[in-house]
Amino acid sequence: MLDFSLTPEQLELQQKAREFAKNEILPIAWYYDEISETPLQLLKKAYNAGLINGDIPKQYGGQGWGLIESVVMTEEFAAACPGLATSLFDNSLGLEPLLLSNNESLKEKYLPRILNDFKLICFATSEPTMGSDVAGMRCRAERDGDDYILNGTKYWITNGGISDYMSIFATVDPDAQHDGICAFLVERDWEGVSVGRQIPKLGQRGSNTTGINLKDVRVPKENMMAPPGEGFILAMKTFARTRPAIGAFAIGTARSAMEFAIDYAKKRRAFGTKVANFQAIQHKIAEMYQKVETSRLLVWKSAWEADQGLDPTISASIAKFYSTESALEVANEALQTFAGYGYTKMFPIEKLLRDARLFSIYEGTSEVQRYIVSGYAMNVYQPVMPPLEELPIHRDMDPADLENDENLSAWRCRICGYVHYGEEAPAECPYCFFPKSAFSEI
Ligand SMILES: Cc1cc2nc3c(=O)[nH]c(=O)nc-3n(C[C@H](O)[C@H](O)[C@H](O)COP(=O)(O)OP(=O)(O)OC[C@H]3O[C@@H](n4cnc5c(N)ncnc54)[C@H](O)[C@@H]3O)c2cc1C
Repeated sequence: MLDFSLTPEQLELQQKAREFAKNEILPIAWYYDEISETPLQLLKKAYNAGLINGDIPKQYGGQGWGLIESVVMTEEFAAACPGLATSLFDNSLGLEPLLLSNNESLKEKYLPRILNDFKLICFATSEPTMGSDVAGMRCRAERDGDDYILNGTKYWITNGGISDYMSIFATVDPDAQHDGICAFLVERDWEGVSVGRQIPKLGQRGSNTTGINLKDVRVPKENMMAPPGEGFILAMKTFARTRPAIGAFAIGTARSAMEFAIDYAKKRRAFGTKVANFQAIQHKIAEMYQKVETSRLLVWKSAWEADQGLDPTISASIAKFYSTESALEVANEALQTFAGYGYTKMFPIEKLLRDARLFSIYEGTSEVQRYIVSGYAMNVYQPVMPPLEELPIHRDMDPADLENDENLSAWRCRICGYVHYGEEAPAECPYCFFPKSAFSEI
C-alpha cells in the first residue's frame, strides 16, 4: 500500500519543530548571519526540547526516530534559517558513524553522554586539499601498540569549533586509497587537537565551520569506529542516511522563499494592478510550488527507504541533487519576484539565496550525486526494453504477415537500423553499406 500521510506522532513532531523554528530560530537568524556566529544557547534549547539527538535508538535511551522524523523536522528548521538548521542537524551527522559502527562498547560509553550532557559531535572526512575524493584523504593514523596516533588537518567541519566530540576519518596509508581508511571518535580536549578560526562564508553564516588540526593525537583502539579498510564504506553509508536531510534543508528553504514571494506579489503594485496578477509572476509561483512538492516526494521516498531497511543510496542522491538545485532556482525566482527589494538586506530573500547555494556542495556535490546515479543507471539498473539490435521495428510489414510466412525473416542492421525482409540478411546494407555481419535476426 502506498501512503504519503504522517502518523499522529510525526505530525506532532512537525508541529513542535515548526513552533520552535518560528519562535526560537526565525527571530535571531539575521543577527547571527550578520555576525557569523553560532548561538550555542539555541542548540541547547533544541536539546532541552528533545529536538536534537532524536535519532539515537531507544536501546541507548534515545527516541529512536527514523529518517522520516528527521526530514520532517529539518524542513521546519531550515524554513526559518538554513544556516542555523545546519548546526542544529550536525549532531545527527556526527553521530551517524557511531550509530552505524559495530563498536558496542563505544556506543555505550558515548551515547549516554551525548544524550544526557548536551554534548556536540561533528563529522570530519574533508581536508584542505580533498573533499569529493574521500578515498584520497591524507590525515594519517599510525598504529602505536594498542593506540593510533593521528596527524593531519580536517577542513570545512560544521560545528568543528563548538563540538565536544569528533568523528574523524583518517588513513593508515594514503596510497591504499579506500583500503586504508579508518574512523575514530576523538575528544576535543585530547592533547594535540586544535581548532581553526571560523571560515568566512557567502551564506549559512550562522553555522560554525572550521578546520581541525590533529598533531600526534593518541587515540585508544577502543575509540575506533571502523578499522582500516572499513572507514570508506562507513563514510558512504553515513552519507546515504544524511543526504535526505540535506534535501529537507532545501525544501524548507525553497518553501520559505516561495511563501515570501507569494506574499510580496499579492501586495506590490505595478501598472495599476498587483504584480501577482501578471501571468509571468503566476508561472514563477507555479514552478516554485511544483519544485517544493516534487522535492518533498523524492526526499520522503529516500527517507522511507532507509526506514524500511532498504539501501537508500540512489534515491538519496537523486533527492539531494534535485531538491538542492531546485531550492537555488526557487530562491532565485523569488528574488526576481521581489526585484530591487529582493536584492537588499531589508527582505529575507537575499539570505535564503546565499544560504541555498551551499546545499549542492556539502555532503557530496551535485556532480558527485550525478556520478553515483549515472553509475547505477548504466551498470546496475535492469532495462525493460530489449537491446536496440533486437528491437522489433516493422514499418514495411505487418508482423502478423511475417509470422505467417515461414520463408521470411526480418534482419536488422545494428549500425543504421534498416530492417531487411528475406530468407537471409543482405550481403550489404543498402543504406550504410555495412556487410552482412552487421545484421541480426529480429
Ligand atoms: C559550509 C561547509 C560545511 C561543510 N561541512 C562539512 C563537514 O561537516 N564535514 C566534512 O567532512 N566536510 C564538510 N564540508 C566539505 C564538503 O563536503 C566539501 O566541500 C564537498 O564534499 C566538496 O569538496 P571540495 O570542496 O573539496 O571540492 P572538490 O572535491 O575539490 O571538487 C571541485 C569540483 O570538482 C567536481 N568534482 C570532483 N570530483 C568529481 C567527480 N568524480 N566527478 C565530477 N565532478 C567532480 C566537484 O563537484 C566540484 O565542482 C563542508 C563544506 C562547506 C562549504
